[in-house]
Amino acid sequence: MFNRRFRNTIRIGPVQVGTFYDGRGREKHAAACTAPRCGFSADYDSRAAAELAARTHRCPAR
Ligand SMILES: [Zn+2]
Repeated sequence: MFNRRFRNTIRIGPVQVGTFYDGRGREKHAAACTAPRCGFSADYDSRAAAELAARTHRCPAR
């Protein structure tokens, strides 16, 4: 899941947030849940949005 090149990865609960560059050199931010049965992951344009999504993620595997 987190196989792209992430920088500044943090963990909020079960969700990891990381910053990466997309193919066009733009900074993007991803949130991905590490719970095996969840599978939540999404990309965001801002770090704040990714962290908010991680913070408010309701994990069905919990
Ligand atoms: Zn989850």
